[in-house]
Amino acid sequence: MSMGERILILGGGVIGLASAFELGKRGHQVTVIEKNKCGGQASGAAAGMLAPFSEIGEDPDDFFQLCLASLRLYPTWQKEVKSLSKCEFEYTNSGSLHAVYHEADLLALETRQAWQREWGAETEVLSANQLHQFEPELSTDIIAAMHYPEESHVFAPDYVKALEQACRNLGVLIEDELEEVAIIEWKDEIKLEAKYGKTFTGQRLIVSSGAWSHELEEIFSIRIPVYPIRGQICAYDNLHGRVKHIVYTSQGYLVPKGNGTLVNGASEDIAGFATDVTEKGIMRLTNWNYQIFPFLKQRIPFHKWAGLRPATQDGYPLIGKLEEAPHIIFATGHYRNGILLSPVTAVSVANLVDGMANHVPLHLFKPERFT
Ligand SMILES: Cc1cc2nc3c(=O)[nH]c(=O)nc-3n(C[C@H](O)[C@H](O)[C@H](O)COP(=O)(O)OP(=O)(O)OC[C@H]3O[C@@H](n4cnc5c(N)ncnc54)[C@H](O)[C@@H]3O)c2cc1C
Repeated sequence: MSMGERILILGGGVIGLASAFELGKRGHQVTVIEKNKCGGQASGAAAGMLAPFSEIGEDPDDFFQLCLASLRLYPTWQKEVKSLSKCEFEYTNSGSLHAVYHEADLLALETRQAWQREWGAETEVLSANQLHQFEPELSTDIIAAMHYPEESHVFAPDYVKALEQACRNLGVLIEDELEEVAIIEWKDEIKLEAKYGKTFTGQRLIVSSGAWSHELEEIFSIRIPVYPIRGQICAYDNLHGRVKHIVYTSQGYLVPKGNGTLVNGASEDIAGFATDVTEKGIMRLTNWNYQIFPFLKQRIPFHKWAGLRPATQDGYPLIGKLEEAPHIIFATGHYRNGILLSPVTAVSVANLVDGMANHVPLHLFKPERFT
């Protein structure tokens, strides 16, 4: 194992910070390079669901495996982040209910259940009557739901802050608010230059610049089809204990947080790099959510925000070394599941650095596959 490499990480979102955390633990000299504030983009905006079964209904492919592996890393991972940061953040194994409204959707639920059970998911299809005991205020329009007891959630902004603090405590250097950062050299040594001539050098580069990764196409001469999909999201307050599970539907989801808020996400639209909230975007959520919980009809969200998911052309992230330059490692394009995927991505990246085998196959995520 090569120890103590000088590693630069481009982008201080959840993926960059989680990778820095894992590499820092393994004794590498890590610097996180962030043009704004760490966690200030997608990672700080996320609902924090850890929900591979709800998110992936079609196919048990390697992407599903990656998501599931990450969910199962979380119990230990979050404890480590808490103990090394000395910061608290919410991690709750609430379980989730994947709700359906029509008889016709039952078959799809059962198909999903059949293959997900092969992966050890303890799932159960609950009838409307049974559901009433699980979640008494749920709409009676819901005819059934799949219960996923393993699905969980974290309070994403606090998790990201804790990751940053854990990195600092491990001796990781955090260079933030750099405004602009360019890659000057990468074929051999890595050299980055920030505004006002500040430079950083290293032996390795981890690319974790989220929705901005496309900007690096020219410098690396490969196609990087990562683009921003805006997610608008809102939250209700003062709902302590009223909702117990994550409730997931085809039109949106609700996540009950320990602080009494209920997070309602999220729209998907294309708006370049704009992170503002539109009336239309939020209405899409609020016009639907009383069909999940009728009491929400009388409520007004107390907080609305938006973030940019790093989407990719084929829906899979880019995780792996560049073939021509194996000291460059991509870890980007996590789209809807970057919070969930942060532990497994960090461990995979660190294993690539240390020349160790990865348990989850990464072929599907090769960064050069679009070129
Ligand atoms: C509304 C919403 C809800 C979501 N809900 C969930 C959820 O419930 N569960 C889940 O798992 N995921 C969820 N996601 C997705 C998740 O937030 C993302 O997949 C994840 O945050 C991506 O992390 P990242 O580190 O790649 O990107 P980011 O957090 O965007 O970080 C990238 C960072 O790179 C920096 N950067 C870019 N270019 C440069 C450069 N040249 N130099 C220096 N720095 C640079 C940026 O400033 C930014 O800070 C949600 C996303 C949104 C928007």
